[in-house]
Amino acid sequence: MSEAFLHYLWQFQYFDKHELQTTSGEPIHIFNPGTRNMNAGPDFHNARMRIGNMEWIGSTEIHIQSSGWMEHKHDRDPAYDNVVLHVVWKNDAPVRRNDGSILPTLELINRIDEKFFLDYQRLVNSPETIPCSRFLPSVSEIKKLSMMDKVLPDRLQLKAQRIFDSLHKNYNDWEETCYQLLARSFGYKINADPFQQLARLLPYKVLRKHADRLLHLEALLFGQAGFLEDDIRDEYYNLLKREYNLLRQKYNLSDRRLNKSQWKFLRLRPANFPTIRLAEFAALLFYNPSMFSTILEKETFAELYSTFSIKQSEYWFQHYTFVKPAKEPVSTIGRSNISTIIINVVVPLLVAYGKSRDEQRFIDRAITILHETPAESNAITKLWKESGFKCKDAFDSQALIELQNNYCAKKRCLDCNIGVSLINQRYQ
Ligand code: SF4
Repeated sequence: MSEAFLHYLWQFQYFDKHELQTTSGEPIHIFNPGTRNMNAGPDFHNARMRIGNMEWIGSTEIHIQSSGWMEHKHDRDPAYDNVVLHVVWKNDAPVRRNDGSILPTLELINRIDEKFFLDYQRLVNSPETIPCSRFLPSVSEIKKLSMMDKVLPDRLQLKAQRIFDSLHKNYNDWEETCYQLLARSFGYKINADPFQQLARLLPYKVLRKHADRLLHLEALLFGQAGFLEDDIRDEYYNLLKREYNLLRQKYNLSDRRLNKSQWKFLRLRPANFPTIRLAEFAALLFYNPSMFSTILEKETFAELYSTFSIKQSEYWFQHYTFVKPAKEPVSTIGRSNISTIIINVVVPLLVAYGKSRDEQRFIDRAITILHETPAESNAITKLWKESGFKCKDAFDSQALIELQNNYCAKKRCLDCNIGVSLINQRYQ
């Protein structure tokens, strides 16, 4: 037996209630099992029941064995003083309150069809990445959509919380925070860490002073990234190096530089080389000198898409790295890269900003933009599609990623509308 399954049984009252009584023989009548408490304290609050001749409103605590009460030291925790019923799988030891009276206990071991639990175990212990994938065709679209609607806000909240944490470190500076998030996103997965480190070592307030000169922005970014340390015969390289040497003295940046070896090129398509991404990032900051304010002004995916569809400087149309010319002209930032930035930076920023100002319109805008943005295509979304889920936009793909990471991977099928629906189907 698992506690999660006992919670489920109690919440939905899926046990034999014929002649229900406590372990000491008092009849029990349950009017309301209460509401699930996901925080510290007893498992269910505001349960209403009659035990013997007394009506009670209070909490219910659930354990596999009644001795769990003492093991978890609930006898010494005042938060458990209002527990009116202890629900256990097996009553292996009587539990007494502080005043010495026996805590009313309901034992479920002989009130459940064992097959019911075995079905549940079969579901959660399936080796598939999505344990319920075989059974999904029997789940209604409404149940699936309701679960996606449930998990998407969790994902947005988590991302907003990360933004609040960085905002705190940046003394509540939204522009600096936005710049750091964008930098990380420009690093894509493989160079996200050095990009983020670069943004921390090179403050946005320094770059903004040079926002009118793309050459200076490139010099600062490539220089701080550690790419301008070699002796190379290349006119553009040496121009950047000269500018960087002047600027790094001016802003005292010398000791805060990355090393070129921190950047990864292996197994990357040339269009995703960090040199190209740095050039694109410089161009973005050049065309949008107040990036966060620009984001707040944009209402739709189309407007954001055109903001991020920037052209890097001429040199980076002809090179993937310094010196060696590219065989074909280098393309501008791709559609899927822009969508990734919108999903991972713009949308969370709008949510965090809306929450911080208590303005729902920014959160609504974030949701609308997610619906307008193409769905991500990755290993997780492919799995869901193979299981028959529709993944038509970024709202769906983000919800499915959250469902997989935070429910399926943790076997939280009993907290999932789909899992509950599947188990209920078998029981009813
Ligand atoms: S958490 Fe939900 S979607 Fe995931 S495997 Fe369990 S029942 Fe299926």
